[in-house]
Amino acid sequence: MKPDEHTLSRSVEDYLKAVYALTEGGDPASTSALADHLGVQPASVTGMVKRLAEDGWVEHAPYRGVRLTPSGRTQALRVIRRHRILETYLVERLGYTWDDVHAEAERLEHAASDDLIDRMAAHLEDPSHDPHGAPIPTRAGEIEPLALGTLAEAAAGERVEIRAVRDEDAAELRHLEAVGLVPGTTVTVVDVTGPDGGVTVDIGGEPGAASRERVRSALARRIYVRDVDA
Ligand SMILES: [Zn+2]
Repeated sequence: MKPDEHTLSRSVEDYLKAVYALTEGGDPASTSALADHLGVQPASVTGMVKRLAEDGWVEHAPYRGVRLTPSGRTQALRVIRRHRILETYLVERLGYTWDDVHAEAERLEHAASDDLIDRMAAHLEDPSHDPHGAPIPTRAGEIEPLALGTLAEAAAGERVEIRAVRDEDAAELRHLEAVGLVPGTTVTVVDVTGPDGGVTVDIGGEPGAASRERVRSALARRIYVRDVDA
């Protein structure tokens, strides 16, 4: 029998969220990628994945990787909804800044009931995206598909709009805000060469008035963009 869906442990919820994040592009997640993502030893991942498969949350094909089952995906999206509504509420209603909410939401997502989250969502008039631009799953478990590339994949001369940024690193978020690399901003890619494979962009629409910024490649891979001319 499956454990009661309301009493999943924090670590089960974190694993399902991690598998969701790593398989969003369509490929299964390797146990080493999961270990990396969760900051734990590969051996402990192997044991946990076995338990999750026995409970019906994931499918694990040896040497191929881990995927969520439909019920695992439903659970992952519930946790992601709680996380993203909490972040939005903290910013919109309690005056938190966008670099200050992720750690708080990481804790609260495991404690808040779905009822509390739905009330917060109603208070916010059902927001579609969190403060970092990430889509918020609906109450029914639907989520906008991730059809975005990253700034690291953009070509020279392309104009792209920043749609979302990864939210884990507070210092990085403060830097992005300080230089104006925030969701809704359009940038022009100046060049994509350089020793670290980084990207140089002009921020701001007006020719001549743009500020030029060098974005190192690790950061460019964490900025999701849409081609505005496509
Ligand atoms: Zn977050």
